[in-house]
Amino acid sequence: MVHKYLEEQAGIRRGQWTNIVDEALVLLQKDHNTSLEQIKAVMQELPTLNQVVESIELVHSQGGDCFIVSDANEFFINSFLESRNLSKFISRVETNRSYFDEQGYLRVTAHTPDPHGCKLCPPNMCKGKILVRFQNTIFYSVVLILRNRVI
Ligand SMILES: [Zn+2]
Repeated sequence: MVHKYLEEQAGIRRGQWTNIVDEALVLLQKDHNTSLEQIKAVMQELPTLNQVVESIELVHSQGGDCFIVSDANEFFINSFLESRNLSKFISRVETNRSYFDEQGYLRVTAHTPDPHGCKLCPPNMCKGKILVRFQNTIFYSVVLILRNRVI
């Protein structure tokens, strides 16, 4: 539905998700005068599953490391974590990069700009390779994967 709106109403072409989000952000800020604070407020109001928050707090209280591997972006995730006071529980965030361009607009770009070679994942990031990299850095006897999405 979002894809359809962006393509039909906003003239944004179909393509890779990160590029679509980037184009939508420019459209919102440039053509619809949406402020950064308004974008941040939306991210801070996103619903979350209480069980995910409780799990993060539990893992942290037991000395575990909590990582976020997400196809969102740094600005969205940091806004979300900040609003729920969860940043202190998160050791590392692997997601698409966010930055401000020369006009001051919030933009996003791929986590992995170069081809990662995985045919299962979208071109912007391979979550499997990121998890393997974590495991190669520090051995974890237990890895829990939590999803904050109702399917
Ligand atoms: Zn992959």
